[in-house]
Amino acid sequence: MTSVSGLSLGELHKRILVCTDCGLSKGRTRAVPGEGPERAAIMFVGEGPGWHEDQQGRPFVGPAGQFLSELLDSVGIKRSDVFITNVVKCRPPGNREPLPGEVEACRKYLDLQVDLIHPRMIVTLGRYSMARYFPNESISKIHGKARRENNTLYVAMYHPAAALHQGSLRKVIEADMAKLPQLLADLDRAKESAPAPAPEKQLNLF
Ligand code: URA
Repeated sequence: MTSVSGLSLGELHKRILVCTDCGLSKGRTRAVPGEGPERAAIMFVGEGPGWHEDQQGRPFVGPAGQFLSELLDSVGIKRSDVFITNVVKCRPPGNREPLPGEVEACRKYLDLQVDLIHPRMIVTLGRYSMARYFPNESISKIHGKARRENNTLYVAMYHPAAALHQGSLRKVIEADMAKLPQLLADLDRAKESAPAPAPEKQLNLF
């Protein structure tokens, strides 16, 4: 499977590993393209790699990642079944927030990943990924609610690191994670009961 760019997911990730399109490339140990199956139904999009991720080249492997794994486990979703990535693929120095130019330079990579993986559900973790899919929204208002667009569900969640630092958010993020399996099942049911496309669109025989 190749994307609009003609690249496969593996080729795209190889490009990300050697990308020098913004200044973050200068300070990184490793770029972190993301990981998970190419056919994942759910894609989680965080902000950017932290120290652990930069060292290992894998997303969400530090304390926030450990918590994300526990959350997934608690609702019966296997971490190995979902695709996990970030808005920026290289660590901002000192864990500062990514600059607008850095987010912009990396935009194409996330777009191509979505195009290739075609997830049925995109879950944003934190402000930067929320801004991408829910511009001008506030997390306190929209967290845990799904927006459906072209048979893809978009769900915004608090960042797991926020819940680690702010105990009161823990229950909120747990409750939001618990909704995901049902939201996905509802999407499948809605697709099944949708009227079949007109025959000439369904079968393209000639
Ligand atoms: N926080 C993120 O947003 N992404 C990671 O990969 C790790 C921590």
